[in-house]
Amino acid sequence: MNREEVQGQLSLYSARKREILPVDLLLQKVIAQAKALNIPVSEHINPSVRINKRATGRFGACFANKRNGTFLIEISDVLLTAHPKACCQTLAHEVLHTCYGCQNHKKRWHRYADMMNQAYGYTITRTESPERLGVEGKNVVRYVVECTQCGAEIPRARRSRLVEHPEDYRCAKCGGQLALKKPEENKE
Ligand SMILES: [Zn+2]
Ligand SMILES: [Zn+2]
Repeated sequence: MNREEVQGQLSLYSARKREILPVDLLLQKVIAQAKALNIPVSEHINPSVRINKRATGRFGACFANKRNGTFLIEISDVLLTAHPKACCQTLAHEVLHTCYGCQNHKKRWHRYADMMNQAYGYTITRTESPERLGVEGKNVVRYVVECTQCGAEIPRARRSRLVEHPEDYRCAKCGGQLALKKPEENKE
């Protein structure tokens, strides 16, 4: 399901103000859930979930350390106050990436996601939206205009005249020429 398809739908999980979720405990719960279905999640997942406070446009990420074969799960801080199920669902999405041949969103990953969805009532999908998770979206920086002289950066969430024609503008700090930096790749 992509972003567009869920626009306008009611969110699955209502966001209530509540305590900060114990994400490390929830990670263990999700790992146990996967193992109960014989999903071969890695035995080397860092027990400490990394909390991302920046606006990256993603809710979770799974980083593989190729040198020692361990995995680090990261979630956005907006999930700390979300409905526990929204948090667990995001953790589950990422935990499945630790399975053999699942560093993508292809068949094998999908099969495991379906198993988790059926067994535990999750709705793990390839991409998530703030609406579906019942959390506030952050203003995502999609464009960065950079001064070619002093390196000052101007982040922008949307296309604008500055983004489309940075050469028409000058750096406010040093008067240098501006250029659009290549957008950062988004890992999910
Ligand atoms: Zn400058
Ligand atoms: Zn993913």
